[in-house]
Amino acid sequence: MAMNDAVDWARDLGGGTRVALIQAGTFRSDAGVLFGPVPWVLWGGLVNDEVDDKRRLLQALNCLLIETPAGRVLVETGIGERADDKTRAMRVYEGPAIVPALETVGFSPDSVDVVAMSHLHFDHAGGLLRADGARAFPRAKIVAQRSEWVVALGDNPRLVASYVQPELRLVRDWGAEGWVDGEKELLPGISVVPTGGHSTGHQAVIVRGSGDGARTLAFFGDLLMRPWAANPRWVTSFDDFPLDSVTRKAELFAQAADEDWIVVLSHEATHPIGRLVRDRDRYRFEAT
Ligand SMILES: [Zn+2]
Repeated sequence: MAMNDAVDWARDLGGGTRVALIQAGTFRSDAGVLFGPVPWVLWGGLVNDEVDDKRRLLQALNCLLIETPAGRVLVETGIGERADDKTRAMRVYEGPAIVPALETVGFSPDSVDVVAMSHLHFDHAGGLLRADGARAFPRAKIVAQRSEWVVALGDNPRLVASYVQPELRLVRDWGAEGWVDGEKELLPGISVVPTGGHSTGHQAVIVRGSGDGARTLAFFGDLLMRPWAANPRWVTSFDDFPLDSVTRKAELFAQAADEDWIVVLSHEATHPIGRLVRDRDRYRFEAT
C-alpha cells in the first residue's frame, strides 16, 4: 500500500526505509506547565502568537509511520476517538484522530505491524481503540516499556494524573504482549531506547536507514516536544523525573548533533522536522 501526497512530510532514510509524519489533530496545554522551571521573562516572547486567552499553547499530536522491507511501524497514536465531550472541550482537542488521519494519506491501519509509543500518557496512547472499542490496529503488536505499564496502572496519585486508566485497562492484555524491558530492536533498523524523565518508562524511537546516504531519524517523544526543549535544562512540569530528563536529554542530544540525525518534535504543529545543533552548553533546534 502506497501513501499518497496528502502526507504531512516524508523522507527516505536509505535501504528501503521511509518515514512519514502523520499529524493526528491538536490540543492545548497550559503554557506555564510546558515551560516548567523556566521564568516567564525568558519564554513569554517565544509564544506571543500562539498563547490563547487561557494561556494555553497549541500542541500537535505528531505520529510517525515507518515503512521498511521487514514491516510497518506506527509511532504514537494521539488522543484518539474515545475522548468524551467534556475532555475534548477541556483539552481543546480537534481531530482528525490517528485512524482517519492514516486513511486520508491512503494507508490502512490493518497493515501496521507494530505500534510503538514513547509512553502511555493520554495524548500518546489514546488512539489504540476505535470509538466502538475495537482495536484500531488489529494486526499490530503494541510496544511500550513494561515499567511504563506498571506505573500507568498503579496508584501513585501524582504519577497517574496524565494516564487514562480505564482506557489503558481495556488494552492491558494487548499491551502485555508487547512489553519491553530496556533497549530493543523492533524491526531491523528501528529501536526503542529507554529514557525515563518525562515518565517512568518513557522511551525514544531511533530509526536507522542503510546503504549509500543512509540517515538516522530520532523521535525523542516528550523529552523534545517543541523547539525550545532543545535546551536540556528546559523541562516541563509534566516531567515526573525532571533531573533524569536533563541528564538523558544532554546525552541523546549530543549524539543527535554529532551524528546529524533528523529529529522530529512530538508536539510542534508547524515546523516539527529538523536537527539539533550545539550552542554553547546547550543545543538549538533548527527546523528544515
Ligand atoms: Zn505528550
